[in-house]
Amino acid sequence: MRPEILNPLFAALTDLKGVGPQLAKPLTRLGLERVIDVLFHLPTGLISRVPVDRLDQAQAGQTIIVDVTAQDYRSGRSPRAPFGVEAVDRAGDHVRLVYFGRTSGLARKLFPLGEARRVSGRLDLYGDMRQIVHPDHVAEPGDEGAIAIHEPVYPLTEGLTNARLSQLAAVALDRRPELAEWIDAPLLASRNWPAWREAMERAHASPRDEAARDRLAYDEIFASQVALMLIRQGLRTRKGRGIRGDGRLTDALKLPFGLTGAQERVGREIAGDMAQDVPMLRMLQGDVGSGKTLVALRAMLAAVEAGTQAALLAPTEILARQHHATLQAMLAGLPVNLAILTGRDKGKVRESTLMGLADGSIDILVGTHAIFQEAVQYRDLSLVVVDEQHRFGVAQRLMLTGKGARPPHLLVMTATPIPRTLQLANHGEMDVSRIDEMPPGRTPVDTRVVSVDRLDEVVSGLERHLAGGAQAYWVCPLVAESETSELAAAEDRAALLRERFGDTRVGLVHGRMKGPDKDAVMARFQAGEIGVLVATTVIEVGVDVPAASLMIVEHAENFGLAQLHQLRGRVGRGTAKSVCLLLRSQTLSETARERLALMRETNDGFVIAEKDLELRGGGELLGLKQSGDADYRLATPEQLVRLLPVAHDDARLFVERDGGMDGPRGEAVRLCLYLFERDAAVPLLRSG
Ligand code: ADP
Ligand code: MG
Repeated sequence: MRPEILNPLFAALTDLKGVGPQLAKPLTRLGLERVIDVLFHLPTGLISRVPVDRLDQAQAGQTIIVDVTAQDYRSGRSPRAPFGVEAVDRAGDHVRLVYFGRTSGLARKLFPLGEARRVSGRLDLYGDMRQIVHPDHVAEPGDEGAIAIHEPVYPLTEGLTNARLSQLAAVALDRRPELAEWIDAPLLASRNWPAWREAMERAHASPRDEAARDRLAYDEIFASQVALMLIRQGLRTRKGRGIRGDGRLTDALKLPFGLTGAQERVGREIAGDMAQDVPMLRMLQGDVGSGKTLVALRAMLAAVEAGTQAALLAPTEILARQHHATLQAMLAGLPVNLAILTGRDKGKVRESTLMGLADGSIDILVGTHAIFQEAVQYRDLSLVVVDEQHRFGVAQRLMLTGKGARPPHLLVMTATPIPRTLQLANHGEMDVSRIDEMPPGRTPVDTRVVSVDRLDEVVSGLERHLAGGAQAYWVCPLVAESETSELAAAEDRAALLRERFGDTRVGLVHGRMKGPDKDAVMARFQAGEIGVLVATTVIEVGVDVPAASLMIVEHAENFGLAQLHQLRGRVGRGTAKSVCLLLRSQTLSETARERLALMRETNDGFVIAEKDLELRGGGELLGLKQSGDADYRLATPEQLVRLLPVAHDDARLFVERDGGMDGPRGEAVRLCLYLFERDAAVPLLRSG
């Protein structure tokens, strides 16, 4: 149960006075639903104003506060023309206050002729005339406090003004309780960090208050580290079961190739873990195409050799079916019973699968989350393999291992190359095995960056490609975006390509499609009936179509590099030479340019991931959330890199030494876990 002292922070915003459905809409768009969300929604900028007595004390470009008196109005000839208020300061110097767009009524009300007003805004020169466009505040003259010298600027959305959000932030700040300190006293002192309550206030007052910002980021990272370590410790104190295969099945696997050195090595690491009676918690990282499936299969066969069962969890229906087909082919002729279970299996088929799991006649189960539903009982599950784990949060990871009296060994596979820092940040409870070597004989994908104004050439190139009998992917970032968005909608793109290549040669898959519809399109693509598959990032993970040797990504600069790397990994799977075309907008920031250039220069996912983190350290905003580090609301990548090592050590000391003791620090850390909603781990805090 959440400590009562935190409850005011977790109240819904709509419970506050003055927050109705009208305001709730834009708030929700920003992810702001509870008081705490506003508290954690920190300003990203700061307007600093210079109060001046007279206009000639200010320079153009400065944001000033000044008292002026309106003398005249000037309306343009057309109603669309800007409306001007001609005013003078106390020395009689002239300034025009300009209002655009049918706001003349408002301007007249704000500035009655002959009356003095205090205004603030950016002073500009228009020719040699001073003007302020849309003064941001208008108040009574002489009231020193009416217009703030420093005003924080919040990330906003349509329908929400900075003033409104500032008010909400003030309400949220009012609700913040005094909390016991969870940071180790010497650390707090050495960094000169304020207490949590003060840090919150200071972080809202200025985005430049580094001590306050660092403290809050640290809190979040620390909470996350403690949670991961508690999970690890909690699992490790439960007794698992050592599994040792005798090799009769793995040796019988008929492979047209030998294992790579890296596959051998990670195979030994996994077998070593599984032999222990402490449950394995291991992540298997390997680039797309590095051969993780085979490694996982060998681990699962060891489980079967030992007379137990294994399960392979895939994030989507498509991937579950594909894994099932792949494994079935590899297992041909072996005495291993493989089954599949997804949310779509119903009735008799499902019943018989459930029976087979319960009586142990099914050895290996492949499926989506359906394989962990209440009704699914295993006779003896000893190994769970999760593919593409970044879609699964900590809570799901806990649930996975909760099945059965003895927790199974857990192996999670990911093709997302995760920089070491982020690995610790998001999956710190796991050991890591890396496949750092590709099977022999791969030709690296040829990557090119092309400006989108050459779209015609790209489509012609695609035409030649298809005419040669090869297939292609065409990836668009979003589906049916609003008209105002510049992002090409996948639906529009598909329509355009259909005009050129015919309806049947162009397929479309996107995230809003129903599973069976999506699978049907994928199946036609796999069978070669569809030439070009237009897709949103649903194809990101794992789909295997060797005849597809051209990947086109639109608005490539809007993707995370790790994501681009994954997409590129969809091609280069067959014998044909493969090409990846990254279409970019005409104008690009320097960082965006560098990021795309990096894709061209290297095929090494780990190099890309490390470099990407470095480039993003400066805080460039990305169009899409990066997978992997989306768990943090306050800490920036730069802060993660800088503060994680400290938080990691501190969390370890806390868990190992003080592990949940009922002392004051234990109580405080509990608060911290609830505050950052890492409380899935709280039951693991030993008490008493
Ligand atoms: P991923 O790591 O992306 O899951 P896969 O397991 O799908 O990669 O393997 C990609 C391809 O490489 C598959 O066709 C697989 O059969 C093949 N492969 C796996 N291991 C080797 C190896 N040691 N030598 C040659 N080919 C291999
Ligand atoms: Mg795979």
